[in-house]
Amino acid sequence: MDIVKRLWLKAFFAALVALATLPVAQADQIGAVRFGVHDTHTRIVIETSSPVEFNAFTLAEPAARLVVNMPGASWAVRGLEGGSGQGHGLAGRFRFDPNGQAARLVFDLEEAAVVVRQFTLPPDGGGHRIVVDIEAAPVQTFTASSGFPTDSVTLTQLVAERAQVNYMPPRCERIRVVIDPGHGGRDPGAPGRFGGASESTLALNAGLALRDLLNSRGRYEVIMTRDRDVFLELDERIRVAQRAEADLFISLHADAAPNGNTSARGAAVYTLSDAGTTRARSRAMRDGEWIVTSETRTAEVNALLLDMSLREKRNQSLTFAESMLSSVSTVTPLFRREPLERGFWVLLDSQIPAVLFEMGFMTNPDDSRNLNNPAFMQRLMETVASSIDDYFESCGTAGTLRTAAASQQSGSALR
Ligand SMILES: [Zn+2]
Repeated sequence: MDIVKRLWLKAFFAALVALATLPVAQADQIGAVRFGVHDTHTRIVIETSSPVEFNAFTLAEPAARLVVNMPGASWAVRGLEGGSGQGHGLAGRFRFDPNGQAARLVFDLEEAAVVVRQFTLPPDGGGHRIVVDIEAAPVQTFTASSGFPTDSVTLTQLVAERAQVNYMPPRCERIRVVIDPGHGGRDPGAPGRFGGASESTLALNAGLALRDLLNSRGRYEVIMTRDRDVFLELDERIRVAQRAEADLFISLHADAAPNGNTSARGAAVYTLSDAGTTRARSRAMRDGEWIVTSETRTAEVNALLLDMSLREKRNQSLTFAESMLSSVSTVTPLFRREPLERGFWVLLDSQIPAVLFEMGFMTNPDDSRNLNNPAFMQRLMETVASSIDDYFESCGTAGTLRTAAASQQSGSALR
């Protein structure tokens, strides 16, 4: 038999085998595996012929894997009759391990990752859907959260707990914004230049203007860390935001360039840096911030939840900082076009999206004139207020999506 004929026969028999495994109205058949790669996470969607009980968890040893247990499920994916295939994003190659009540789908992980969501969706033109979202995580976090679910901490509990404690989507009503005019009292900040006011006075002027603008919208509850010339410890500024359960924290400052440099000018927005995140983590651990100790909330679980919360905070802060920069740039030059990262103390809370706004350089004559001009300050704060409007506008859509995911987590998928 020549080689071509042999190949044809081989293909023919392969097709026969495939035919034999075509769906035959049997329960719990896996019909498709799909992937969605997003900025922060990879979504794995597994379609099944009927609602399937499942649980997803990661294993660190002997190799990094994601396991989706689906007792009783069988494999019927057209084109992947061998039961294996190539994933996308954080999920690498996968294979189905049919084993009756121990049937499972196993994915190689491309990097350390944690399961952040797992839930089911009803059919929408196709089959029932199992949805598992995984996010890249530091190796320690991955290792701590990996392992076969035990009675004390199952991934299911973890996800449910996360839904309760993690940073919740911005509220659409009674949005709480904390405005933090920097310095004050015995700490005047940078001294006034060119006959202008000190940093603490400029920051207070800005904060009061922003407060009035936000109040006039009737949509925000504004909390000031200070509304007069008083001294306030840095940590107390964070606590004001935490007590208020704020949705956003904005600290207002004015910059001063060193060494007689008068040319540096423009506004800058800072968010929490990597080093700052490390400090924020130890700060939260030290203060026991929202860290709950219970039989199921072990130290590892708390650490994992804290990491997730910090990541979410940084993402949100960055989103807001970017929109703020583009809004602010309509009335003032920018010192840097992108948000800058720094470990400023007032940014160290572990949950509340927070930025520090340097409104301009007091050491630059043009910036100094502007910052001391109430009409300019009003225009500048109007751009900040409108970026706050933009940021919270999406709470009706993006926020709802996340709420929906959270309620699904605590629903039927988590039995
Ligand atoms: Zn300052």
